[in-house]
Amino acid sequence: MAWHSSTRRARLPADWPRRRRRILRRDAHSCQSRFTDGRLCGAPANQVDHIEPGDDHSDSNLQALCEWCHTRKSSSEGGRAAALTRVRTHRPKPTHPALED
Ligand SMILES: [Zn+2]
Repeated sequence: MAWHSSTRRARLPADWPRRRRRILRRDAHSCQSRFTDGRLCGAPANQVDHIEPGDDHSDSNLQALCEWCHTRKSSSEGGRAAALTRVRTHRPKPTHPALED
């Protein structure tokens, strides 16, 4: 239980490879991610994700994810910001009387 949490980033327990396999088996190698409409992704999973990021490596905080969902989860904040920027920069160019001959 007392896993030293002095470094916050990616400190995996010594038995991580075994634990990883166990989680994938528990979740039947099926992606546990849910879409906003509540549908389970269910794609073949080969990744193990921390539901709450941090140092909790207990089984209840781990889930199997497919690569796509894992990437999407890891970069969801950045992705949303980029999408907003893209929309905002797509304005029609304003015409100005001074620019006309
Ligand atoms: Zn998925």
